[in-house]
Amino acid sequence: RAKEAGKNTYQFFDAQMNAQTFERLLMESGLRQALERGEFELHYQPQVACDDHQLVGVEALIRWRHPHLGLVSPARFIPLAEETGLIKPIGAWVLREACRQMTEWDAAGLAIPRLAVNLSARQFEQQSLLHDVAEVLASTGLEPARLDLEITESMLMQNPQEAVLLLGELKALGVRLSIDDFGTGYSSLSNLKRFPLDYLKIDRSFIEGLPGDEDSAAITEAIIAMARKLHYTVIAEGVETAEQGAFLRLNGCAILQGYYFSKPLPAANLAGWLLKHQQRCQASLT
Ligand code: C2E
Ligand code: MG
Ligand code: MG
Ligand code: MG
Repeated sequence: RAKEAGKNTYQFFDAQMNAQTFERLLMESGLRQALERGEFELHYQPQVACDDHQLVGVEALIRWRHPHLGLVSPARFIPLAEETGLIKPIGAWVLREACRQMTEWDAAGLAIPRLAVNLSARQFEQQSLLHDVAEVLASTGLEPARLDLEITESMLMQNPQEAVLLLGELKALGVRLSIDDFGTGYSSLSNLKRFPLDYLKIDRSFIEGLPGDEDSAAITEAIIAMARKLHYTVIAEGVETAEQGAFLRLNGCAILQGYYFSKPLPAANLAGWLLKHQQRCQASLT
């Protein structure tokens, strides 16, 4: 019987353990240990003002430096972290580390005006979120108005009544709130109006086709015009060309983020980027 059971188990693995399942298991056990092993790192992508390209902030984006897989992008492990609940400790680490980094830059005389941090749906559901944010602000000393929490439409629409309350409490701490990837969900701008949001980030998929694609251009124009009337500051993500930047500027977008200015950078590279960037800005003025 034992032999038979063993054989069945073997067959089970043989048949079911395809490469995908195997990778998932590997990733999951790795993910469980990654925090304590210090394998996560944050990269920071600059956001610049549309009119003069001055640095107005950075968005913190997590990466996983896996011992065998190399630098793993969040698209590959955030969904798994969400499923397993590991996103909670990971998200808490991101918030603390990013705020700590801001105070380190402050101390080094590198004044980064604003920091944006992505929240996951699971973090947003957590009772402790408000307390966690308040605690990190208190312990790092980061001025609340310099912290911007990015949430997505689906997080708001899951339970709008509770979301309105939570966002109100977060706003009361003094932090800023952004709606990320706008245009990819199902909410309309009129739906969003009940939430106390400060920034609206137009999803990269609309920016991609600018300025040539007529539909992308029309949608982007309409989003910016309406968002401005509703007093949101508009951020465009995924700006890769000067032409896209010019189109967005012409249509009243406030802030640009994308590879045209910089990819997300390790914290240590930000000062160097900023120096070069300022030289480029100067040169284009003269
Ligand atoms: P997101 O918050 O919308 O972040 C923007 C993504 O677009 C980033 O991908 C960024 O590297 C990429 N990007 C920026 N500019 C350009 C561009 O010009 N061209 C192209 N092709 N891509 C550009 P990344 O870093 O791979 O992050 C992907 C997503 O993973 C993020 O999308 C966010 O939803 C999630 N994520 C990243 N870090 C965190 C985190 O700390 N916590 C949580 N919960 N989610 C995170
Ligand atoms: Mg984001
Ligand atoms: Mg986004
Ligand atoms: Mg996006």
